[in-house]
Amino acid sequence: MGKNMSQKILIIEDNDQNLYMMTFLLKAHGFEIIAARDGKSGVALANQINPAVILLDIQLPGMDGYAVAAALRSTTGLERVPIVAVTSFAMLGDREKILSAGASDYIEKPINPDTFVEQIKKHVPKNS
Ligand code: MN
Repeated sequence: MGKNMSQKILIIEDNDQNLYMMTFLLKAHGFEIIAARDGKSGVALANQINPAVILLDIQLPGMDGYAVAAALRSTTGLERVPIVAVTSFAMLGDREKILSAGASDYIEKPINPDTFVEQIKKHVPKNS
């Protein structure tokens, strides 16, 4: 158990394999994981649990990642929560689009197990 013991990470992801991989890796490093399978419930959960970081898939049923990022940024108390977009899109325009929608950073699928946790830890507030 370390300093990450009580830190919650919200993962908004509709793909079972990606969700499993991200959950497995982050739990192994002591984070508590809360998952949402669609954008609307992701926004609701973010309000309830006040996560340290949000991992956000772009292609989601109903409300997509762009809409989720914008909704989170316009929610009182979530204006500055780190949002890391996780997407299979590799084009520069997509990166700019999700960053301008409010994401703090962007990582590409497939998840690289060797670097993923460090990429997320960069965004975890040190004293939360
Ligand atoms: Mn998806």
